Amino acid sequence: MSISLIAKDIKESATLLINEKAAILRAKGEPLIHLGGGEPKSKAPLSAILAANAIINSGEVRYAPADGIPELKAAIIRYTEDYYKIKVAPENVIASSGAKQALMIALMAVLNPQDEVIFPAPYWVSYSEMVKMIGAVPVPVLPEDGSFYPRIEDIERYITSYTKVIMLNSPNNPTGAVYSRQFIKDVVELTQKRGIYLIMDDIYHRLVFDGVEWVNVFDYAKELTDNTKVVIINGVSKQYAMTGFRIGWAVANKKLIEVMRILQGHQTSGPSVVMQKAAVGALNGPQSQVDALRVSLQNNCQVMMERLGAFNGVRANRPDGSFYVFVDFSYYEKDSRKLANFLLDKVRVATVPGVDFGLEGHLRLSTCGSIKDITEGLERIKWAVDPDSPNELFIGMRKLVRDWL
Ligand code: PMP
Ligand code: GLU
Repeated sequence: MSISLIAKDIKESATLLINEKAAILRAKGEPLIHLGGGEPKSKAPLSAILAANAIINSGEVRYAPADGIPELKAAIIRYTEDYYKIKVAPENVIASSGAKQALMIALMAVLNPQDEVIFPAPYWVSYSEMVKMIGAVPVPVLPEDGSFYPRIEDIERYITSYTKVIMLNSPNNPTGAVYSRQFIKDVVELTQKRGIYLIMDDIYHRLVFDGVEWVNVFDYAKELTDNTKVVIINGVSKQYAMTGFRIGWAVANKKLIEVMRILQGHQTSGPSVVMQKAAVGALNGPQSQVDALRVSLQNNCQVMMERLGAFNGVRANRPDGSFYVFVDFSYYEKDSRKLANFLLDKVRVATVPGVDFGLEGHLRLSTCGSIKDITEGLERIKWAVDPDSPNELFIGMRKLVRDWL
């Protein structure tokens, strides 16, 4: 079969793959613990469900403007004006099929083949592949000091005449790092000076833990004008536990949004109208569920960090937000895919290999499950990788692992 050179070079999404593997094992009745998935387990808000039901029940679900129904745009404008303290017009907004599509069309709108996109590593698995899908060049930047907090010098070093975009994700998937005020300020100044785009993937911005400051990029970019080269990406997936609804959005200068609208018109004709209504329900409905999610993630993270502390050989940075902990397991195994497969096969714990986020030797663990999932999942991992750990609970399983080895 003849496959394009670009398509051949694209890796499957490791995060989606682990969800599929987990679903298959669960369907077979396997006692799986899913520490891989990046999605909250709570239900979607009632206001979202009612809004989707209402339009379905009307039986009238038609094509709509490719950049989103006016009601959703109005809700996104309110949201953006509240959180970013800027003035936003409908022409500054596009709703897409997930933040993923919003990001993809933003990149398509600005990149030529061979252009370069800089983003801090470790990074969400799709960043590198999205850039490659356009024929452009991903430039992941691992902070030199070994931390998950890039400094402006780290980024500056990689700027070339091909650099078109810097892309930031704070809180970060997979590390949970929230970038500092100084760093955001420096990046805004750098992108303004160089005339390059700054894409802020803020999909986890309401899931920041107590005592941590999330920084609004418009504290420094100031206002959204026709010349502003800042793009905000967000969506309902994470904050409202609406991953399967597939609604995200971008806010940017009018010209860029117009180009994105044209691209999206040819791709999907716009996101599902039913799901756009649901997103309106979520954005305009009661908001207490978002903070409840944030607090429960913070508690889960605390428990996960405590349990990780009991391992002899792991290193884990305390996340500032999101629902991930990115853990260095290289003391036990340097090949993260091998380790993730081993854990899935032998102790039925799903994790995502760090190499897919651009950093080998690590596993991404999700805190989205219950406290029981976290404690038992880590217990099983510990026992599988740390053969000398005293543990009476999983004798049978340990035997299984040893037999396998
Ligand atoms: N950005 C980041 C950093 C993510 O982790 C995700 C994963 N869902 C997305 C964007 C895309 O979100 P969605 O398409 O579900 O809105
Ligand atoms: N973003 C989620 C994660 O990192 C899963 C969905 C996806 O990658 O598209 O686990």
